Amino acid sequence: MTIDTGKVYRLEDYRPSDYAIRATDLTFRLDPRHTRVTATLSIERREDAALDAPLVLDGDGLKLLSLTLDGTQLPTGGFEATPDRLTIARLPKGPFSLVIETELAPEANSALMGLYLSNGVYCTQCEAEGFRRITYFLDRPDVMSVYTVRVEAPKASAPILLSNGNPVESGDLEDGWHYAVWHDPHLKPSYLFALVAGDLGRITDSFTTRSGRTVELGIYVEKGKEARATYAMDALKRSMLWDEEVFGLEYDLDVFNIVAVSDFNMGAMENKGLNIFNDKYVLADEETATDVDFANIEAIIAHEYFHNWTGNRITCRDWFQLCLKEGLTVFRDHEFSADMRSRAVKRIAEVRTLKSLQFPEDQGPLAHPVRPRRYREINNFYTATVYEKGSEVVRMIRTILGAEAFRQGMDLYFERHDGDAATIEDFLKVFEDVSGRDLSQFALWYHQAGTPHVSVSTTYDEARGELSLDIEQSVPPTPLESRKRVMHIPLAIGLVGRNGGDLDAAPVDATSFADGVIHLKKRRQTVRFAGLSERPAISLNRGFSAPITLASEQSVEDRLFLARHDSDLVARWQALNGLLSDHLIETSKTPAQQSNMAGRLAEVLGAIAADDALEPAYRALALTPPSEADVAREIGSNIDPDAIHVARNTLVDIIAAANREAFEALCGDLQGDDSFSPDAESAGRRALRNVLLDYASAAQGTPELAASQYRDATNMTERAVALAVLAHRFPTETQTVSALADFEARYGDNPLVLDKWFQIQATIPGDAALARVEGLTAHGAFSIGNPNRVRSLIGTFASSNQTGFHRADGTGYRFFADRIIEVEKRNPQVAARLATAFRSWRSLEPGRQGHARAELARIAAVPGLSTDLKDIVERTLG
Ligand SMILES: [Zn+2]
Repeated sequence: MTIDTGKVYRLEDYRPSDYAIRATDLTFRLDPRHTRVTATLSIERREDAALDAPLVLDGDGLKLLSLTLDGTQLPTGGFEATPDRLTIARLPKGPFSLVIETELAPEANSALMGLYLSNGVYCTQCEAEGFRRITYFLDRPDVMSVYTVRVEAPKASAPILLSNGNPVESGDLEDGWHYAVWHDPHLKPSYLFALVAGDLGRITDSFTTRSGRTVELGIYVEKGKEARATYAMDALKRSMLWDEEVFGLEYDLDVFNIVAVSDFNMGAMENKGLNIFNDKYVLADEETATDVDFANIEAIIAHEYFHNWTGNRITCRDWFQLCLKEGLTVFRDHEFSADMRSRAVKRIAEVRTLKSLQFPEDQGPLAHPVRPRRYREINNFYTATVYEKGSEVVRMIRTILGAEAFRQGMDLYFERHDGDAATIEDFLKVFEDVSGRDLSQFALWYHQAGTPHVSVSTTYDEARGELSLDIEQSVPPTPLESRKRVMHIPLAIGLVGRNGGDLDAAPVDATSFADGVIHLKKRRQTVRFAGLSERPAISLNRGFSAPITLASEQSVEDRLFLARHDSDLVARWQALNGLLSDHLIETSKTPAQQSNMAGRLAEVLGAIAADDALEPAYRALALTPPSEADVAREIGSNIDPDAIHVARNTLVDIIAAANREAFEALCGDLQGDDSFSPDAESAGRRALRNVLLDYASAAQGTPELAASQYRDATNMTERAVALAVLAHRFPTETQTVSALADFEARYGDNPLVLDKWFQIQATIPGDAALARVEGLTAHGAFSIGNPNRVRSLIGTFASSNQTGFHRADGTGYRFFADRIIEVEKRNPQVAARLATAFRSWRSLEPGRQGHARAELARIAAVPGLSTDLKDIVERTLG
């Protein structure tokens, strides 16, 4: 691991490399302890580089065996090699060839960056800077090269040999070894390099592109798990077709392979032609995967596939531009899922994710712009801001330009920049060029951190039928940016009449309003509508057109009305969610003050549950009150997680009691036949039924309903939810104890399902939570070295167990800090990601703040801390 040097990288320091690597030929002779890598690099000085510019290649913990320049072994004095750098001062004027031999020990690589072994399978992870753990290289995304890769390994242990591009040749070698050669004709940066070798099972299929080329598709999984990869294959084929139909983009190689491995730091990786996945995002069947798993697999298969154009064919000039590929590709996978599923339900899920993951980032010490200007450790910038807010920014471009001009802009982007390492400026320029608009103010979304706040106050002139909206925007200060500039915010609105329909209204001044969208470009702005026949309820930020926080003076009556009648389902959900959230905030502060609001909310939820005009998936979302973490975020300061927990439970009990018979009846009606389909509509019915199961169990106060659902479940969605209801509501009942034991016995040999078992127990609230989680770390199936397992137990405890993690005595923090320190020794990246769970510590009440600060300081004081963890901890401490 790299020990922190304190070096900070700045966007303004960017300059092109002095040398280009035109071709990269790699030979791997694989061995767990002594893998030999021979890299033959065809190098050329760039035209504007100084004649005497030295060649400085990146390394990370490398062992150099030999170095040959144009066929001559370089003498020891002719270069300088450390594990982290290779410098050659005297070089030929023209193009030259450099052969570098290094030796690696994949077996000892517990950081899971570079070449490592996962369950006996060799695999690689090179983004962002893992390639330098394989060989010395100009390991930066703007150095693009054509790769040819030869892999040699024993045939018995590694019958499958894969790399990027197309297969060229393969054959047998002496001593039971064999080899395969792969060639990727497309220029690519080193972070997209991949290699896989091992004994794997596979399923195959093919896809014919619209120009008539046949692409061989393969998904490789651990042997015996092949049947569980069929949904992923189906999702892949749908993704390929969708990208042709919606963006006109066709796949460009003869083969496309996906490999699933069980030890992986991230979700998945878009290596050219050879995507490598965390197996949790590939393997699924009804018995072992929930509907959420199916939806995630569909989305992530699509995401990585879509990178082939947005990321691979057009890559990032430098890592500051990470959002260029990620924000855009997240936007594309969101659109894909919206087309495959219900658009409104998908959008609400996106908004919830954005608010629960990105808003706290923007509001805390780790806030950074979508395109950061400085970093110490790039691995720490794979954040919700870069991904999710990055996607929102692309969505706003489409809102501002309209769908047609947006597509023209995308077409121009591919035409103009194919084969480039591009920047955010390049991306914005294509939209300016096709639309003739000036997007310079809009570009602040990329450059300025923080969630903009918009407040709206309204006056209605009954006599003149005129409505006036006074709108004000501001961006709260964030670390390193105390003063903020005024942004261009596209705010979609609707004026809803008493019959629930949208009223026709003409803007008095049309310059800042078009097609239902107000373009806020000033700090204060007034928009007037005339010709209204009645006072409308105002539906704001429809479709969540801008990722902002919003305050508006609206009566409870109007909000309740919108929660039932807004024609925009996303805004309808927002109205309801806002009411629930406000009520929870109020009752968590003054518990005794149970106004009649709870009763009215229970009534609205009852009506929504019974409303057949609404799709079940929407009803399930609407019936789920904001999480404890959501409420904490809305409160923002002096947070007492215990009070929020009580308030939320109280509200759930009131809703459950008020609708007891109706919910029980509906729960019964939704019980479908036994045939399972993972499609969105069936999943929606299961989701609604599961929400109702929780309410019904709360109303009855006994575990019978959940226990019987657990027993009779015919799929994992029903079984896992029943187990969660049992564990969370009735943790000590015998039915719960035996269901937990049954689940463990049933799925003990399936790591992905066992992760759910850990997860469910990690989220049981209350006093016993910490002891329970501590006990589970001693469970035979728990492994501190497997990222999925660590995330499911330790990560889930910190992120989703508000009362357990935030214990008033600080022991939850101490336990968590100890685990972070333990994980860091093996895997700094995973440790750093875990540590972000401390990001909102300043919002807590003073006692908890003190405990959290002490634990952060304790981590920061550990000698020899990695850059990854030190960077997060120090920024979090501020
Ligand atoms: Zn991505």
